[in-house]
Amino acid sequence: MKPRILNQKLNLALLPTPIKKLEKLSEEYGFDLYVKEDDMTHFLASGNKIRKLEYLLKNAKDEGADITFTCGGVQSNHCRATAVLSKMLGMQPVLFLRGTEPDVFNGNLLVDKLIGSEIVYVTPEQYQNIDEIFQEYKEKYEAKGKKVYVIPEGGSNSIGALGYMNAVFEMNEQTDLDEIDAICCALGSGGTVAGLVAGLVLLDKKCGVVGFNVTKTDREKFLDKVFYLLNGMKNFEIDLKVENAKVEVIDDFSGPAYAVPTEEDLKLIKHVAETETMILDPVYTSKALRGTIETFKNTGKKVLFIHTGGTFGLFAQAEGMTDVIKSY
Ligand SMILES: *Cc1c(COP(=O)(O)O)cnc(C)c1O
Repeated sequence: MKPRILNQKLNLALLPTPIKKLEKLSEEYGFDLYVKEDDMTHFLASGNKIRKLEYLLKNAKDEGADITFTCGGVQSNHCRATAVLSKMLGMQPVLFLRGTEPDVFNGNLLVDKLIGSEIVYVTPEQYQNIDEIFQEYKEKYEAKGKKVYVIPEGGSNSIGALGYMNAVFEMNEQTDLDEIDAICCALGSGGTVAGLVAGLVLLDKKCGVVGFNVTKTDREKFLDKVFYLLNGMKNFEIDLKVENAKVEVIDDFSGPAYAVPTEEDLKLIKHVAETETMILDPVYTSKALRGTIETFKNTGKKVLFIHTGGTFGLFAQAEGMTDVIKSY
């Protein structure tokens, strides 16, 4: 049965997103590759974060917030989605972005700026202690009589993770999850993987989750975080048998650094665009799909890849992409 907490959300995303088979890639790589098109959850707030924000922003509204805080890289998809949805709901977004203001606004940052987000640029050192910065600014806004709601990096706390638990219930209506061997996705802050695992445990499915780490934080840390989030979700009167979790985190496709793709990743973006008319992004989904292909090729298994979005970020890396297209 679907836990009652899963109804405690705003309806912001265009759901259900389709699931389709990637016929040509399946044939080429020797396994059945399906995609859940969460790049189509919305236009301006597209990607996976909107599913978390349906719960987080409900909470913000219930608490009477008029300001939202969140943080990420300058090209953060999560910050862009939070800013768009906050504005739509009548709350002012304040984004704490790691880096300095670029000469030209593009990709996600262009959307952030266009819609009128407040932006605070922070150094990588300051970002290490972002909670202190949040606190400092929160006090400033509170002194002006404002109510601030703080959303952590990636929206990845136990409330945000409900978004992908709910997505499992959605997928369970669309397809026979008993036939699927693995669900694969990119892992950046862990909330998506935690939510997926939670949903599958609750529905007692044998299928495991494989998260492809796109950061340089090691997998043990993320596995700890996933279990921390799963245990946190038990507080919502969900009878979650955490010991039944089937989850793996793979580090091998993270590339040189977060948000820096390898040439193979960019070539895969070109190849997938040409064969399946599907656009991947250079920060998350290209690395995760490359990992999925390398892990499952010629196994004949049935794999469901979550396209978690990131499309705007591709336009911020148009130069690297151009070089690959010209030499392709
Ligand atoms: C944030 C993000 C992810 C990672 O999701 P987490 O829940 O943070 O692990 C994957 N893909 C895209 C496009 C993202 O923006």
